[in-house]
Amino acid sequence: MKVPFLDLKAQYETIADEIKTGIDEVISKTAFAGGPFVAAFEENFASYCATQHAVGVSSGTSAIWLALAGLGIGPGDEVITAANTFIATAEAISFAGAKPVLVDIEEATYNIDPAKIEAAITPQTKAIIPVHLFGQMADMDPILKIANAHNLFVIEDASQSHGAEYNGQRAGSLGHAGCFSFYPGKNLGAYGEAGGVVTNDEELASRIRMIRDHGQSKKYYHDIIGWNARMDGIQGAVLDVKLRHIENWTEARRANAKRYNELLANNPAIECPGEMDYARHVYHIYAIRTGEREELMSELAARDIHSGIHYPVPIHLQKAYKELGHSEGDFPIAEKCAKEFVSLPMFAELQPEQIEHVANAIEEITQNVPVD
Ligand SMILES: *Cc1c(COP(=O)(O)O)cnc(C)c1O
Repeated sequence: MKVPFLDLKAQYETIADEIKTGIDEVISKTAFAGGPFVAAFEENFASYCATQHAVGVSSGTSAIWLALAGLGIGPGDEVITAANTFIATAEAISFAGAKPVLVDIEEATYNIDPAKIEAAITPQTKAIIPVHLFGQMADMDPILKIANAHNLFVIEDASQSHGAEYNGQRAGSLGHAGCFSFYPGKNLGAYGEAGGVVTNDEELASRIRMIRDHGQSKKYYHDIIGWNARMDGIQGAVLDVKLRHIENWTEARRANAKRYNELLANNPAIECPGEMDYARHVYHIYAIRTGEREELMSELAARDIHSGIHYPVPIHLQKAYKELGHSEGDFPIAEKCAKEFVSLPMFAELQPEQIEHVANAIEEITQNVPVD
């Protein structure tokens, strides 16, 4: 039985009519760049995140850069983030002209360890970017407390956490700004590239709106130097359709994760992801950990089960960031996890027999004898 890592076609087939209608409307109104379809999505996405404003932009990477630029963070400034994030978080900090300062993660959540943040703060520190990795939010209360005490901005990288919650509060709504990616494979994915920034700060929202559109306050009157980071009209329409379904998809992901957990709970060779008491985990990635990753992945592949690694190399060991001067051993938990993670197939349309097939294959490969 083939089990793909992700199946965007299966999802499309459930919403094809709505999507076609949405895209047709954009074309018939020729509202291709920004415009009313983006504005409608922005309003609905802000309400989904329980924030006052949402700004649709060209990607998750630009969303983080725009949040930093909108807050006036640039050359000479330092921004703290997790050592195990996707490269885009660090790149956005660098692209803003600031310096990424990395912090190790907690083993329970794979997110930035609040207890290690204070040691990384210097007089140059301007912001903390917690990354809600895999769909579970970072421990925000202590992070917000530290930020408050040191007068720092908090920008949530919620690119993997649409609809995730921390004690009932939605991802993106706790910091000064929340950044989302709508890359096709994300839990809320466009049919192309897109991203968004949410915030309750009206001034920040309007600054980001200006920067994403060449710094203009009205057409051809440019108050500041901006950039082109607009969202396509077609992406706005697609995302607005998909937003109507995301709660169902998220619940399906959560049920799939629960089933994996049940089936794999008694296997001592692997560790399943945990959900913190404070969290609503949205399982963008369902990552297990194992000491025998190479064998597990190649045996899964031999059975036509597709798995992945998120991510094999932490930021401080990437060639691109050698200038930060780190070496192996600097962030031991991030390093250990990077060597052990295996992401299993995870999407809303995953079938119960596919999950059982994956779990049985893992039991067989690791030669685990089920207890019952
Ligand atoms: C996907 C992702 C991004 C970047 O989003 P793009 O839309 O691909 O630019 C940033 N941070 C994290 C944690 C991501 O997973």
